[in-house]
Amino acid sequence: MTQRKETVANHDTRLQVVVALPAHTALSGPLTYLHTQPCPAGSLVRVPLGQRDVLGITWEEDSPAPLPPGAAGSEAPPALSARALKPVSMVLPDCPPLNPAWRALMGFAARYYQRSLGEMALAALPPQLRDLSPEQWQRRIRRLQKAQAAAPARGDSPLQAVSAALSPSPQQQQALDTLASPAAHDKPVLLFGATGSGKTEIYLQAAQRLLATDPAAQVLVMVPEINLTPMLLERFTARFGTTQVAAMHSGMTPAQRLTNWLAAHLGQARIVLGTRMAVLCSAPGLRLIVVDEEHDPSYKSQEGARYSARDLAIYRARVETQHGRPCQVVLGSATPSLESWHAAATGRYLRLDMPDRMGGGQLPHLRLVDMSQQPKGAVLAPALVAAMTERAQRGEQSLILLNRRGYAPVLSCHACGWKSHCPSCSAYRVFHKIDRTLRCHHCGFTERVPRACPDCGNIDIAPVGKGTEQLEEQVAALLSGEVRPDGQPLHVARMDADTTREKGSLEAQLARMHSGEVDVLVGTQMVAKGHDFRRITLVAAINADSALFAADYRAPERLFSLLMQAGGRAGRDADLSHQGELWVQTWNPTHPLFAALRTHDFARFAQNELADRETAGMPPFTYQALLRADARTQEAAQAFLAAARDAARTLPGVEHLTLYPPVPMQIQRIANVERAQMLLESHSRPALQHVLSQWHAELARCKALPAAKGLIRWAIDVDPLAI
Ligand SMILES: [Zn+2]
Ligand SMILES: [Zn+2]
Repeated sequence: MTQRKETVANHDTRLQVVVALPAHTALSGPLTYLHTQPCPAGSLVRVPLGQRDVLGITWEEDSPAPLPPGAAGSEAPPALSARALKPVSMVLPDCPPLNPAWRALMGFAARYYQRSLGEMALAALPPQLRDLSPEQWQRRIRRLQKAQAAAPARGDSPLQAVSAALSPSPQQQQALDTLASPAAHDKPVLLFGATGSGKTEIYLQAAQRLLATDPAAQVLVMVPEINLTPMLLERFTARFGTTQVAAMHSGMTPAQRLTNWLAAHLGQARIVLGTRMAVLCSAPGLRLIVVDEEHDPSYKSQEGARYSARDLAIYRARVETQHGRPCQVVLGSATPSLESWHAAATGRYLRLDMPDRMGGGQLPHLRLVDMSQQPKGAVLAPALVAAMTERAQRGEQSLILLNRRGYAPVLSCHACGWKSHCPSCSAYRVFHKIDRTLRCHHCGFTERVPRACPDCGNIDIAPVGKGTEQLEEQVAALLSGEVRPDGQPLHVARMDADTTREKGSLEAQLARMHSGEVDVLVGTQMVAKGHDFRRITLVAAINADSALFAADYRAPERLFSLLMQAGGRAGRDADLSHQGELWVQTWNPTHPLFAALRTHDFARFAQNELADRETAGMPPFTYQALLRADARTQEAAQAFLAAARDAARTLPGVEHLTLYPPVPMQIQRIANVERAQMLLESHSRPALQHVLSQWHAELARCKALPAAKGLIRWAIDVDPLAI
């Protein structure tokens, strides 16, 4: 060996380096490079790849390839002699390695979600890290070191809260005591707390207790949406000061993301607060992970590696614990996902209940409006209009939910039947009256409304159905003539993706709502999430029925959650809460979902739904994966899927799976791309994983089949939320 060392000069150490390679490429494991000296696994390096220098991460020598043997090129090409290996260009200086627990998390996520290790691991790093020149990198590090020197007592002393904790209610105290118990560290905790029960204060105090005792500890707090981060950030910075809290979400500039990532990676940020991407961040002192509103579908990524941040949080807590630092994970919700509920019911999670609202506030009273008993064509029941008027006259606010933005979902010609189809999608373009446009909500295609029917010339084309824009107009008309306590006419406003598109507009609208300027707010479900409107005493859902009979088996779960959450907006202020009401207009008032909603009985709802799912063989009693295909033609997409299905039939272990035939997706065409999918299902998660991992090589082969010509891309979605 000595002799060989001399011949390869000073580049005699082989390093395994993980780099991001294009999806479905033949290479997906770590690549081998040469370096002058050993370098700890997890170091950030730059290495030559083709004509470029790219960012990479050194990995364990014996790291298993993310895809098992048999998959095409799951390892670096063998038989490359030392002479053909290229040297590492540089090791990023002054950067501690990404720790073993983080690397284990990446390895797991890549295997479980069927992506390459490089894609998973490199996507978890801030994008700017990939583009920085060595000089820029060094400037960054120097700046951070300077900041660190200027702000002492970071990372080496217990964290003191800058403002006092609120004194907990007996219910909160009990929850905090349980969280501190060993039982709550052995398994994930499901914090099942009613809206307004003070869950956030539990997160704050649990974090505070941990950070005050462990000078190196870090806490990760996740929320489902960017819109919710400013509010939570405010509460955490008010408690802990701004220097210790780092935000992490896709709404930040690349420079901010890099700064905050480094602060977390170097242990300077004691609290990391963000959306689903935050679960992938490096936080070497991680000891507590909080997933707030854990039931929210936004935790599941819908592109790239389609991971569930909630599920990765569970895995991450376990892997951190295995690496010697006990890490607790807390999932919070008033309406937990049925997966989490089931896990608690079967003893895999510890359930912690907080049924009471703070200050003795009452949950809103449910008023079901039987639409078959209302005047024909009524948008809002007369009793609902009267109730809203009464509230506005008292200076209270109402919220009306309609999950469809725009003025009308479709524009139609009654003479010839023409409808406002999108030319590129299998969907209608939505009529937006405000700027007289037809907009496709899938591909964005926008056009002025035609003066007359493009097919027959009839000038009498009319909107069909209702969106938030039209509802706002109708509610304003219904309430016109009524006055507020100050003598002013009632003010109706709207909040949805259209009115909040511009930067700062959401904040401005929230401020108008909080100041009491708005009496009735019409909006999509975005207004139901998390916002703390203290003067709302009435919430109305006016087309809840669409979810009762939807094809998506999760629709009732989402509806129940939305209505509970929306109802939770009513009467947040304990003084007003005795008047809180949730109105639901329905043609099906006897539906069992409403019976459970009336008594705010999530347990009963969950039990019914889980029984149905078990009978029907649905998750969480089975495990699913989807293979999705996008192609120029529906035939090509389906031909690829059919070939993939045939190939799957030959794989060992496939007898434990049900392979469903390929079908077009619900919205079959978006922006002229045809979409299809096939479902795989099993009662055994390992069996499903085993087949998926062997399938990759076959998929690469199916892609090349003549019948699949026109295939654009394919992707595996493990534990899909919508099928
Ligand atoms: Zn026509
Ligand atoms: Zn379109």
